[in-house]
Amino acid sequence: MTNLAAFLVSSATACRDRVAVRHDDTTLTYAELDDASARFATVLQDRGLRPGDRVAMTMPNVPLFPVVYYGILRAGGVVVPMNPLLKAREVAYVLRDCGTRVAVAFPLFAEEVAKAAAEVGIDCLVTDASAFQDLLTAAEPLSGMVDREEDDTALILYTSGTTGAPKGAELTHRNLVSNTATTAETLLHAGPHDVLFGGLPLFHAFGQTCALNAAVAAGATLTLLPRFDPHQALEVMHRDGVTIFLGVPTMYSALLHAELPEGYDVSSVRLAVSGGAAIPVEVLHAFEQRFGATVLEGYGLSETSPVASFNHPDRPRKAGSIGIPIRGVEMKLVAEDGSEVGPGEVGEIAIRGENVMKGYFNRPTATADAVRDGWFHSGDLARVDEEGFYFIVDRKKDLIIRGGYNVYPREIEEVLYGHPAVAEAAVVGVPHEVHGEEVAAVIALRSGAEATAEEIRDYVKERVAAYKYPRIVTFTAELPKGPTGKILKREIVIGSAT
Ligand code: AMP
Repeated sequence: MTNLAAFLVSSATACRDRVAVRHDDTTLTYAELDDASARFATVLQDRGLRPGDRVAMTMPNVPLFPVVYYGILRAGGVVVPMNPLLKAREVAYVLRDCGTRVAVAFPLFAEEVAKAAAEVGIDCLVTDASAFQDLLTAAEPLSGMVDREEDDTALILYTSGTTGAPKGAELTHRNLVSNTATTAETLLHAGPHDVLFGGLPLFHAFGQTCALNAAVAAGATLTLLPRFDPHQALEVMHRDGVTIFLGVPTMYSALLHAELPEGYDVSSVRLAVSGGAAIPVEVLHAFEQRFGATVLEGYGLSETSPVASFNHPDRPRKAGSIGIPIRGVEMKLVAEDGSEVGPGEVGEIAIRGENVMKGYFNRPTATADAVRDGWFHSGDLARVDEEGFYFIVDRKKDLIIRGGYNVYPREIEEVLYGHPAVAEAAVVGVPHEVHGEEVAAVIALRSGAEATAEEIRDYVKERVAAYKYPRIVTFTAELPKGPTGKILKREIVIGSAT
């Protein structure tokens, strides 16, 4: 029996008065977070929540996030976190796909969630800070938490995986407890005196396990930044004495280019963790030089809770490498035919261990494709050196990572194909100075049809979250194709965007 929320309950005993989470002047101590989440568990139970029921949550990085998150877990529910920028049709897809029981939304983003919940026919609980406080005050705190089996699902994270429409990666309590403990103990060496930077979105696996859950497991403080901005990040680091910075590579570049205001001291940062995409070696070195903190790169996916490999702090680090598998995890590289490739050769990263998801919710075929003989196939291509350090070569899949957010080309292509003038469409990522990658669409129009780039862009913009629509739209007579008629994205050339 176990529950991911047990980390909170034990930190609330060990360090009651320590600040667990902070956003500007709002703080919650461990005792307060423990009490608020226990009350929220009762609120959910009073609404009929049963163990195993799915609860969707749409919340920015504010202190209510952990209250709701641990509240759902304590009640035995399954957390389904969603990006607050999703539009109603995208939210409705998730709510339907995993049979959500209730949705919890933060007012700023509640409109789209409420629309989607009404369409699907479920309850939507809107939580502004004061209304939420009233709800909590009226509820008795649940004593302890509902026990779960290790293999019960704790979290469903929506991801397109290597192919197709978004699928819900089901992570169990065991997956998350083990990945959180390993991250906090062996990768971050985190303790109650650490202050973790909370600028990564908490709805995503990286921010959730490595910032939120790791901080809570260590009894540390998590200082939140709802929307990453390099100047605000420096202010938070200075103000709160951040000791562990966590970010995606575009955050590192942005911080490098930001001016450090007079009198600011960020020398408290002892460790900086990069993940989610490859960090350019020059950026890594420049960051270390400027901020005097070691940058350690790790690698993982939503399906692996997420951490699979890391440059461990107590061993020599290799810049440009994603490190070695973490405790309880094995990695190997496989060829198309499934055979293992040797050192120096390129193969697909396969991962086995306590961090590998149970499967994709309600999708046995997709699960069987991804997890074979216990090995999860990542879709990422890499090499391994003689010392066992892995180096990512390329993404097998076509995932675009724009400013830390995943954009799955196929999803955007589906929308483009809905436009009456579009005959063929391909969406690719092009290098971008600020966002890392920018979303570009190449369109072949139907003969006789007319549309401008602006019309196409606006058409998509109305239908998907703002970070996903193609900023660049170009036209071509015909898209390059392979022998089977499949569009060859590798042959599409678009200049880099600035
Ligand atoms: P997600 O499921 O959103 O966490 O995205 C996972 C994908 O991010 C992986 O399949 C990789 O393509 C990419 N990724 C994560 N970490 C790294 C890294 N350190 N270097 C290169 N790509 C990475």
